[in-house]
Amino acid sequence: MIYDAVIVGKGPAGITCAIYLKRYGYNVLVIGKDGGALEGASLIENYYGIKQISGKDLVKFGIEQAISLGIEVLTDEVINIDKEVNFKVTTARGLYEGKTLVLACGTSRNRYPLADKYEGVSYCATCDGFFYRKKRIALIGNSLYMLHELEVLANMCKDITVFTDGLELEVKLPEGVKVVSDKIINVDGDTHIKAIVTKSGRYEIDGCFIARGKASGFTLAKHLGLGLSDNALRVDDKLMTNISGLFACGDVTGGLLQVSKAVGEGANCAKSISDYLKNK
Ligand SMILES: Cc1cc2nc3c(=O)[nH]c(=O)nc-3n(C[C@H](O)[C@H](O)[C@H](O)COP(=O)(O)OP(=O)(O)OC[C@H]3O[C@@H](n4cnc5c(N)ncnc54)[C@H](O)[C@@H]3O)c2cc1C
Repeated sequence: MIYDAVIVGKGPAGITCAIYLKRYGYNVLVIGKDGGALEGASLIENYYGIKQISGKDLVKFGIEQAISLGIEVLTDEVINIDKEVNFKVTTARGLYEGKTLVLACGTSRNRYPLADKYEGVSYCATCDGFFYRKKRIALIGNSLYMLHELEVLANMCKDITVFTDGLELEVKLPEGVKVVSDKIINVDGDTHIKAIVTKSGRYEIDGCFIARGKASGFTLAKHLGLGLSDNALRVDDKLMTNISGLFACGDVTGGLLQVSKAVGEGANCAKSISDYLKNK
Protein backbone atom coordinates (compact mmCIF):
# COMPACT_ATOMS: atom_id res chain seq x y z
CA MET A 1 0.00 0.00 0.00
CA ILE A 2 1.22 3.49 -0.80
CA TYR A 3 0.25 6.06 1.85
CA ASP A 4 -0.50 9.67 0.99
CA ALA A 5 1.84 10.59 3.84
CA VAL A 6 4.23 8.68 6.07
CA ILE A 7 4.98 10.64 9.23
CA VAL A 8 8.10 9.90 11.27
CA GLY A 9 7.37 10.86 14.87
CA LYS A 10 4.40 10.31 17.17
CA GLY A 11 4.95 13.37 19.34
CA PRO A 12 2.69 16.47 19.25
CA ALA A 13 3.91 17.58 15.79
CA GLY A 14 3.54 14.24 14.01
CA ILE A 15 0.23 13.30 15.63
CA THR A 16 -1.35 16.71 14.96
CA CYS A 17 -0.23 16.56 11.34
CA ALA A 18 -1.75 13.06 11.06
CA ILE A 19 -5.07 14.11 12.63
CA TYR A 20 -5.49 17.04 10.21
CA LEU A 21 -4.50 14.95 7.19
CA LYS A 22 -6.92 12.19 8.16
CA ARG A 23 -9.74 14.69 8.48
CA TYR A 24 -8.85 16.11 5.05
CA GLY A 25 -9.45 12.57 3.77
CA TYR A 26 -5.90 11.27 3.27
CA ASN A 27 -4.49 7.89 4.31
CA VAL A 28 -1.64 8.36 6.76
CA LEU A 29 0.86 6.20 8.59
CA VAL A 30 2.63 7.44 11.73
CA ILE A 31 5.82 5.71 12.87
CA GLY A 32 7.47 6.62 16.18
CA LYS A 33 10.05 4.79 18.22
CA ASP A 34 9.10 6.19 21.63
CA GLY A 35 7.33 9.04 23.42
CA GLY A 36 9.88 11.65 22.32
CA ALA A 37 10.83 14.72 24.37
CA LEU A 38 7.62 14.69 26.41
CA GLU A 39 8.58 11.41 28.06
CA GLY A 40 11.04 13.40 30.18
CA ALA A 41 8.63 16.25 30.99
CA SER A 42 7.17 15.60 34.43
CA LEU A 43 4.70 18.49 34.37
CA ILE A 44 3.34 20.68 31.56
CA GLU A 45 1.59 23.80 32.80
CA ASN A 46 1.79 26.11 29.79
CA TYR A 47 -0.29 24.35 27.14
CA TYR A 48 -3.58 25.96 26.18
CA GLY A 49 -6.66 24.66 27.99
CA ILE A 50 -4.87 22.21 30.30
CA LYS A 51 -3.86 23.43 33.75
CA GLN A 52 -1.49 20.58 34.49
CA ILE A 53 -0.59 17.36 32.76
CA SER A 54 2.39 15.02 32.73
CA GLY A 55 4.35 14.75 29.47
CA LYS A 56 3.68 11.01 29.35
CA ASP A 57 -0.11 11.54 29.57
CA LEU A 58 -0.09 14.26 26.91
CA VAL A 59 1.68 11.92 24.46
CA LYS A 60 -0.59 9.02 25.38
CA PHE A 61 -3.80 11.04 24.91
CA GLY A 62 -2.60 12.38 21.55
CA ILE A 63 -1.85 8.90 20.24
CA GLU A 64 -5.19 7.58 21.55
CA GLN A 65 -6.99 10.43 19.80
CA ALA A 66 -5.25 9.60 16.50
CA ILE A 67 -6.01 5.90 16.77
CA SER A 68 -9.68 6.64 17.56
CA LEU A 69 -9.87 8.51 14.23
CA GLY A 70 -8.62 5.40 12.42
CA ILE A 71 -5.00 6.52 11.98
CA GLU A 72 -2.37 3.77 11.93
CA VAL A 73 0.27 4.51 14.59
CA LEU A 74 3.24 2.12 14.69
CA THR A 75 5.90 1.82 17.34
CA ASP A 76 9.03 1.16 15.31
CA GLU A 77 12.39 2.76 14.56
CA VAL A 78 13.00 4.34 11.17
CA ILE A 79 16.56 3.54 10.14
CA ASN A 80 16.61 4.77 6.56
CA ILE A 81 14.61 6.83 4.06
CA ASP A 82 15.13 6.77 0.29
CA LYS A 83 13.51 9.03 -2.26
CA GLU A 84 12.61 7.34 -5.51
CA VAL A 85 9.28 8.21 -7.16
CA ASN A 86 7.83 7.93 -3.66
CA PHE A 87 9.53 7.90 -0.25
CA LYS A 88 10.65 4.44 0.89
CA VAL A 89 10.90 4.21 4.66
CA THR A 90 12.89 1.34 6.17
CA THR A 91 12.21 0.54 9.80
CA ALA A 92 13.63 -2.08 12.14
CA ARG A 93 10.70 -4.31 11.21
CA GLY A 94 9.37 -3.30 7.81
CA LEU A 95 9.31 -1.17 4.67
CA TYR A 96 6.69 1.51 3.99
CA GLU A 97 6.00 3.83 1.10
CA GLY A 98 4.49 7.32 1.01
CA LYS A 99 3.79 9.91 -1.68
CA THR A 100 4.93 12.50 0.85
CA LEU A 101 7.03 12.23 3.95
CA VAL A 102 6.99 14.24 7.18
CA LEU A 103 9.93 14.40 9.55
CA ALA A 104 8.39 15.19 12.93
CA CYS A 105 11.14 13.46 14.83
CA GLY A 106 12.11 16.04 17.43
CA THR A 107 15.55 17.43 18.13
CA SER A 108 18.53 15.16 17.80
CA ARG A 109 20.02 14.06 21.06
CA ASN A 110 22.67 11.66 19.85
CA ARG A 111 25.31 14.08 18.63
CA TYR A 112 28.81 13.33 19.89
CA PRO A 113 30.37 16.65 20.95
CA LEU A 114 33.70 15.00 21.87
CA ALA A 115 34.32 14.31 18.15
CA ASP A 116 32.28 17.07 16.48
CA LYS A 117 35.09 19.64 16.48
CA TYR A 118 37.29 17.53 14.16
CA GLU A 119 37.29 17.06 10.41
CA GLY A 120 36.94 13.44 9.35
CA VAL A 121 33.85 12.90 11.52
CA SER A 122 30.63 11.92 9.77
CA TYR A 123 27.05 11.07 10.72
CA CYS A 124 26.25 9.47 7.36
CA ALA A 125 27.93 6.36 5.96
CA THR A 126 26.06 6.64 2.66
CA CYS A 127 27.16 10.25 2.18
CA ASP A 128 30.81 9.99 3.24
CA GLY A 129 31.90 6.33 3.29
CA PHE A 130 33.37 6.66 -0.19
CA PHE A 131 36.02 9.13 1.06
CA TYR A 132 37.45 6.50 3.42
CA ARG A 133 38.11 3.60 1.05
CA LYS A 134 41.19 1.68 2.25
CA LYS A 135 41.36 3.83 5.40
CA ARG A 136 41.07 3.00 9.10
CA ILE A 137 37.56 3.73 10.26
CA ALA A 138 36.01 3.98 13.71
CA LEU A 139 32.27 3.43 13.92
CA ILE A 140 30.78 4.51 17.25
CA GLY A 141 27.53 2.80 18.24
CA ASN A 142 26.01 -0.39 19.57
CA SER A 143 22.53 -0.64 18.03
CA LEU A 144 20.62 -1.71 14.95
CA TYR A 145 21.18 1.73 13.51
CA MET A 146 24.95 1.23 13.90
CA LEU A 147 24.64 -2.13 12.10
CA HIS A 148 22.88 -0.42 9.20
CA GLU A 149 25.75 2.08 8.92
CA LEU A 150 28.28 -0.75 9.20
CA GLU A 151 26.69 -2.61 6.29
CA VAL A 152 26.98 0.52 4.13
CA LEU A 153 30.62 1.11 5.17
CA ALA A 154 31.63 -2.53 4.74
CA ASN A 155 30.99 -2.23 0.99
CA MET A 156 33.66 0.47 0.75
CA CYS A 157 36.04 0.24 3.72
CA LYS A 158 38.15 -2.71 4.78
CA ASP A 159 39.46 -1.66 8.20
CA ILE A 160 36.51 -0.90 10.48
CA THR A 161 36.50 -0.95 14.27
CA VAL A 162 33.22 -0.63 16.16
CA PHE A 163 33.46 1.29 19.46
CA THR A 164 30.46 0.62 21.72
CA ASP A 165 31.62 3.27 24.25
CA GLY A 166 31.00 0.99 27.22
CA LEU A 167 27.53 -0.13 26.07
CA GLU A 168 26.49 -3.69 25.40
CA LEU A 169 26.37 -4.63 21.73
CA GLU A 170 22.66 -5.01 20.82
CA VAL A 171 23.27 -6.72 17.48
CA LYS A 172 25.35 -9.54 16.03
CA LEU A 173 28.17 -8.19 13.92
CA PRO A 174 29.37 -9.81 10.69
CA GLU A 175 32.50 -11.93 11.09
CA GLY A 176 35.83 -10.13 11.02
CA VAL A 177 34.63 -6.76 12.38
CA LYS A 178 36.78 -5.59 15.29
CA VAL A 179 34.99 -4.40 18.43
CA VAL A 180 36.27 -2.29 21.31
CA SER A 181 33.67 -2.36 24.04
CA ASP A 182 35.14 -0.24 26.82
CA LYS A 183 34.32 3.40 27.44
CA ILE A 184 35.84 6.11 25.24
CA ILE A 185 38.00 8.39 27.38
CA ASN A 186 39.09 10.83 24.69
CA VAL A 187 39.03 11.64 21.00
CA ASP A 188 42.33 12.96 19.72
CA GLY A 189 43.40 14.98 16.67
CA ASP A 190 44.70 18.30 15.35
CA THR A 191 42.18 19.72 12.92
CA HIS A 192 41.51 16.18 11.63
CA ILE A 193 40.52 13.31 13.92
CA LYS A 194 43.47 10.99 14.61
CA ALA A 195 42.68 8.54 17.39
CA ILE A 196 40.10 7.15 19.77
CA VAL A 197 41.36 6.57 23.28
CA THR A 198 39.72 4.04 25.57
CA LYS A 199 40.86 2.36 28.79
CA SER A 200 42.28 -0.49 26.73
CA GLY A 201 44.44 1.71 24.51
CA ARG A 202 44.82 4.28 21.78
CA TYR A 203 43.39 3.40 18.36
CA GLU A 204 44.77 5.37 15.41
CA ILE A 205 42.12 6.14 12.78
CA ASP A 206 41.64 8.14 9.57
CA GLY A 207 37.93 8.74 9.94
CA CYS A 208 35.10 8.30 12.38
CA PHE A 209 31.41 7.57 11.81
CA ILE A 210 28.91 8.28 14.56
CA ALA A 211 25.87 6.01 14.86
CA ARG A 212 25.07 6.24 18.54
CA GLY A 213 21.65 5.27 19.86
CA LYS A 214 18.85 5.31 17.34
CA ALA A 215 18.62 7.15 14.06
CA SER A 216 17.61 10.73 14.84
CA GLY A 217 16.01 13.36 12.65
CA PHE A 218 19.46 14.79 12.18
CA THR A 219 20.97 11.55 10.88
CA LEU A 220 17.97 10.75 8.67
CA ALA A 221 18.17 14.27 7.25
CA LYS A 222 21.90 13.94 6.53
CA HIS A 223 21.24 10.74 4.60
CA LEU A 224 18.63 12.50 2.50
CA GLY A 225 20.88 15.50 1.83
CA LEU A 226 18.51 17.93 3.54
CA GLY A 227 19.53 21.49 4.34
CA LEU A 228 20.42 22.03 7.99
CA SER A 229 21.28 25.11 9.98
CA ASP A 230 22.26 25.04 13.65
CA ASN A 231 21.18 21.42 13.86
CA ALA A 232 17.64 22.24 12.68
CA LEU A 233 16.05 21.30 9.37
CA ARG A 234 15.66 24.17 6.94
CA VAL A 235 12.08 24.48 5.68
CA ASP A 236 10.24 27.05 3.57
CA ASP A 237 7.06 28.87 4.61
CA LYS A 238 5.06 25.75 3.67
CA LEU A 239 7.27 23.65 5.97
CA MET A 240 8.71 21.83 2.95
CA THR A 241 12.42 20.97 2.93
CA ASN A 242 14.71 21.28 -0.08
CA ILE A 243 13.36 17.89 -1.28
CA SER A 244 10.00 18.14 -3.01
CA GLY A 245 7.29 16.31 -1.05
CA LEU A 246 9.38 16.06 2.11
CA PHE A 247 8.03 18.20 4.95
CA ALA A 248 9.12 18.78 8.55
CA CYS A 249 7.43 20.13 11.67
CA GLY A 250 7.95 20.52 15.40
CA ASP A 251 11.23 20.61 17.32
CA VAL A 252 13.10 19.27 14.28
CA THR A 253 12.72 22.66 12.53
CA GLY A 254 14.30 24.49 15.49
CA GLY A 255 13.07 27.77 17.02
CA LEU A 256 10.77 27.56 20.03
CA LEU A 257 11.03 24.00 21.37
CA GLN A 258 7.56 23.83 22.87
CA VAL A 259 4.40 21.75 22.46
CA SER A 260 2.32 24.70 21.22
CA LYS A 261 4.75 25.39 18.37
CA ALA A 262 4.95 21.67 17.48
CA VAL A 263 1.14 21.41 17.35
CA GLY A 264 0.82 24.60 15.27
CA GLU A 265 3.42 23.44 12.78
CA GLY A 266 1.82 19.98 12.61
CA ALA A 267 -1.49 21.54 11.54
CA ASN A 268 0.15 23.89 9.02
CA CYS A 269 2.20 21.04 7.62
CA ALA A 270 -0.97 19.01 6.97
CA LYS A 271 -2.50 21.92 5.04
CA SER A 272 0.67 22.25 2.93
CA ILE A 273 0.69 18.51 2.19
CA SER A 274 -2.95 18.62 1.16
CA ASP A 275 -2.21 21.52 -1.25
CA TYR A 276 0.86 19.67 -2.56
CA LEU A 277 -1.06 16.42 -3.21
CA LYS A 278 -3.91 18.28 -4.93
CA ASN A 279 -1.46 20.04 -7.26
CA LYS A 280 0.30 16.82 -8.26
C1 LIG B 1 12.34 17.69 30.19
C2 LIG B 1 11.49 18.43 29.19
C3 LIG B 1 10.48 19.27 29.65
C4 LIG B 1 9.66 19.95 28.74
N1 LIG B 1 8.68 20.77 29.22
C5 LIG B 1 7.87 21.42 28.35
C6 LIG B 1 6.80 22.24 28.83
O1 LIG B 1 6.59 22.41 30.03
N2 LIG B 1 6.00 22.86 27.90
C7 LIG B 1 6.19 22.71 26.56
O2 LIG B 1 5.42 23.28 25.78
N3 LIG B 1 7.20 21.94 26.09
C8 LIG B 1 8.04 21.30 26.94
N4 LIG B 1 9.06 20.51 26.46
C9 LIG B 1 9.32 20.46 25.01
C10 LIG B 1 8.34 19.54 24.28
O3 LIG B 1 8.42 18.26 24.86
C11 LIG B 1 8.72 19.50 22.80
O4 LIG B 1 8.76 20.82 22.29
C12 LIG B 1 7.69 18.71 21.99
O5 LIG B 1 7.55 17.41 22.51
C13 LIG B 1 8.11 18.66 20.52
O6 LIG B 1 7.24 17.85 19.81
P1 LIG B 1 7.74 17.08 18.49
O7 LIG B 1 6.56 16.28 18.05
O8 LIG B 1 8.35 18.02 17.56
O9 LIG B 1 8.93 16.13 18.98
P2 LIG B 1 8.92 14.97 20.08
O10 LIG B 1 7.83 15.15 21.04
O11 LIG B 1 10.31 14.92 20.59
O12 LIG B 1 8.58 13.67 19.25
C14 LIG B 1 9.54 13.13 18.37
C15 LIG B 1 9.02 11.82 17.83
O13 LIG B 1 9.90 11.35 16.80
C16 LIG B 1 10.17 9.98 17.03
N5 LIG B 1 11.42 9.61 16.36
C17 LIG B 1 12.62 10.25 16.36
N6 LIG B 1 13.51 9.57 15.62
C18 LIG B 1 12.85 8.49 15.13
C19 LIG B 1 13.23 7.39 14.32
N7 LIG B 1 14.45 7.26 13.84
N8 LIG B 1 12.30 6.46 14.04
C20 LIG B 1 11.03 6.56 14.51
N9 LIG B 1 10.63 7.57 15.30
C21 LIG B 1 11.52 8.51 15.61
C22 LIG B 1 10.17 9.84 18.53
O14 LIG B 1 10.01 8.51 18.90
C23 LIG B 1 8.96 10.70 18.86
O15 LIG B 1 7.78 9.95 18.67
C24 LIG B 1 9.89 19.81 27.35
C25 LIG B 1 10.90 18.97 26.89
C26 LIG B 1 11.70 18.28 27.78
C27 LIG B 1 12.79 17.37 27.27
